Amino acid sequence: MSRFYTENLKNLKAYVPGEQPKDFEYIKLNTNEAPYHFEDIVGRSVSDTFEKISRYPDPECTALTEALSRFYQIDQSEIIPGNGSDENLNFIMKAFCDEKRPAIFPDITYGFYHVIADVNLVPWQTVPLREDLSIAVEDYEDLKGVLFIANPNAPTGLVLQPSEIETLLNQDLNRLVVVDEAYGEFGGESCIPLIKKYDNLIVVKTFSKAWGMAGGRLGFAAANRELICDMNTVRYSINPYNVNRMTMAAGCALIENSEKVMEKVAVIIKLRERFSEKLKALGFRMTDSKANFIFAEHPQISGGPLYQRLKAGHILVRHFSDDRITNFNRITVGSEEEMNALCIAVEDILKEFV
Ligand SMILES: *Cc1c(COP(=O)(O)O)cnc(C)c1O
Repeated sequence: MSRFYTENLKNLKAYVPGEQPKDFEYIKLNTNEAPYHFEDIVGRSVSDTFEKISRYPDPECTALTEALSRFYQIDQSEIIPGNGSDENLNFIMKAFCDEKRPAIFPDITYGFYHVIADVNLVPWQTVPLREDLSIAVEDYEDLKGVLFIANPNAPTGLVLQPSEIETLLNQDLNRLVVVDEAYGEFGGESCIPLIKKYDNLIVVKTFSKAWGMAGGRLGFAAANRELICDMNTVRYSINPYNVNRMTMAAGCALIENSEKVMEKVAVIIKLRERFSEKLKALGFRMTDSKANFIFAEHPQISGGPLYQRLKAGHILVRHFSDDRITNFNRITVGSEEEMNALCIAVEDILKEFV
């Protein structure tokens, strides 16, 4: 730490992203990216932007919000674009959280929430999941602050129904509820239609998972126009050109071709179900994940050692050290070949234990 670093952040522990190896020697099932991408669609749209690369992009992201508004059947004024959904989470912290309105989220959820709170000097508190790792909505009844609910939750993959999100919204109409639907395309029902009914709801979405564009950094949030307006005040004050030309063009092109994207999503859902059964046959227990990952534990080998053994065999999965889930690994649903390789490796490792 230099002597110039601010006192305010001296205890900040930076978020540690999943491993992103520089070479491609791993079968990468650790950060829930898509095993597919749309090179033809994205490539063409991106190369068309190069002749305008010397000009700033449209700060309103009109083409993108137009496409999103058609796809999600909401108004353009109800959409804010982000450089990944992580950026929108940052805007939300800045716009709506403070000493009196802490960030509130489950004890086991997306690890970025508490860090983005910390860097904004926003206090935060956690609410334990139930024993079965599900979210107990009744436990939020009396809490004052801003709720952050990943739905499906990460890394459990468990979903809340829109009716349960409505319970959270109705517990206190003066309390904001942020629903992070990073994995929404893979199962569960979107809460986007509820933004018409509740002015205390923000839905955050990303192009990093189902849309196969983690490397492009694109996300957006949907909410009532006043909330979007507040978030835009923050956005324009931090980074008015937060979505670059290439990414914007790629996002628009993907939305135009959404049926191709959703076909791929359907394949991932099928593979999730098929390989969940395979892993169960190998003795794994798992949550009923509705995301593009399987969250599984094995009675004979704990999460850490299994992660290590797989890594030695060039397969990366994600292990979390939190006590409650230390027996588990989160395994991204990759391509069929990748999942077959995973199963073969796991079978091999388990042979030592029988
Ligand atoms: C991956 C993920 C994000 C981050 O997405 P980006 O758009 O890549 O920033 C947000 N929330 C959850 C729960 C995620 O898993």
